[in-house]
Amino acid sequence: MPACLLGILAPSAALRVPAGLAELASVLALSLFFFSCGSQELAENVPPPVRILIDPGHGGYDPGAMRKIEGQWVREKQVALSISLNLAERFQKDSRFLVSLTRYGDSHLSLYRRSSMAHRERPDLFVSVHLNAAGSRHKQGIEIFVHSDYPMNSRGRRVRRYSPCDEDRTKKVLPLSPAEMRRQWNREASLAGHQIQKALREETGMRNIWLKKRDFFVLRCVPAPAVLMELGFLSNPKDAERIVEGRFREQLVNGIYRGILAYLEQRSSQSREASVSGAQGPEPG
Ligand SMILES: [Zn+2]
Repeated sequence: MPACLLGILAPSAALRVPAGLAELASVLALSLFFFSCGSQELAENVPPPVRILIDPGHGGYDPGAMRKIEGQWVREKQVALSISLNLAERFQKDSRFLVSLTRYGDSHLSLYRRSSMAHRERPDLFVSVHLNAAGSRHKQGIEIFVHSDYPMNSRGRRVRRYSPCDEDRTKKVLPLSPAEMRRQWNREASLAGHQIQKALREETGMRNIWLKKRDFFVLRCVPAPAVLMELGFLSNPKDAERIVEGRFREQLVNGIYRGILAYLEQRSSQSREASVSGAQGPEPG
């Protein structure tokens, strides 16, 4: 694998650890160094792989949304797992990535457990996979959520804040990330969300794919840029029909995969631009 290609992904892996300004400067310098691709020495400085934690929603006694199609129950927990496993397989074929799932089988995990796994694994990106359901059968499309502390709905009204990062029964509390890191991860998540939205539109031909901000537990309580996707409404007959098709699921996996790659490349090029403009600043007098 060319060192320059690895270099494209260097900053995202490096940004895993909360860094001060000095550390950040060294990360940016390192990514620029790799991208120059000018030296054989680079092969010895292979950056660590990008870690992605995929979170299939629901599981075990919690089936999530459900719908009977041609006599068969379609359960959100199964579809989310199947899409997550296929997405993981795409990344596993590429040595630039280290991918893991919060669950590999039909087991139940609390939101707290999912978030605490992210605290343990410290991924560069957290991706939660769900299907939607609504009271109205007319609601359809894909929603991509990223975190905001002050989310607004489409009418400009503030959406209510959810519970803090704790487990209700035991009152175990996850450590809160510093506000500046949270803001940085939210900006990153918005970039990722935009790129996934764009790639999903290209892959599926659907226009009704929205990027929204919400204060969901798994978005707020993981120490990483986090994206939660609702990949269609099981309550809508057209979406439900599509979701059971292998071809549509493949388009979803392709779109999410391509969107994540585009996000990592975009972020890396922004880091390079920042480090170049920093290097061209005025000389101290
Ligand atoms: Zn769900």
